[in-house]
Amino acid sequence: MKVGVLAVQGAFAEMEAYWRAQGAETFEIRQRADVERGMDLLALPGGESTVQGKLINDLGMFEPLKERIRGGIHVFAACAGLILLAEKIDDPGRRDGTRPEKWFGVLPVAVRRNAYGRQLGSFTTVGTFDGKPNVPMTFIRAPAITAILSPEVETLSSFDGKPTSVRWRDITAFTWHPELNATA
Ligand code: GLN
Repeated sequence: MKVGVLAVQGAFAEMEAYWRAQGAETFEIRQRADVERGMDLLALPGGESTVQGKLINDLGMFEPLKERIRGGIHVFAACAGLILLAEKIDDPGRRDGTRPEKWFGVLPVAVRRNAYGRQLGSFTTVGTFDGKPNVPMTFIRAPAITAILSPEVETLSSFDGKPTSVRWRDITAFTWHPELNATA
């Protein structure tokens, strides 16, 4: 299996290591030409979604990436990656219109950025993921999924009454970091 890891900002090295540990071949997506390479899965790492979105735009990768995502390859997204995919973003820090209401807007969920208060800004808990118990889940300035916008979206894990990972068609997306505790 060949995995393309978006590598413009954030925890892309951890994401690559995660997939390599599972026997996949990985390559980094840093420029437009990389988006056209053959891949079975696109991995979107955690990081800062506003920075990632801006860089993807500046590097001319936005439309080609969106095409690939729509084209039915598998997508695996952590945290900022989930924010890039969400249909709706509730961003308390949005002030002057420099942050869009969505980036790719392909995944039918609404998310709120930095949804866990200061003390809970980063934490690890243990929960059930996709029917598997005792999976460690590390949240780092995580978003919350505040609404599911299609009955086709399957919730794979929850915390505090809210979904924390979902599957929809070929997309699996997490508010936490599966690549940091490689058991998911
Ligand atoms: N707070 C980040 C954002 O809004 C996401 C954090 C993460 O990816 N760990 O983009």
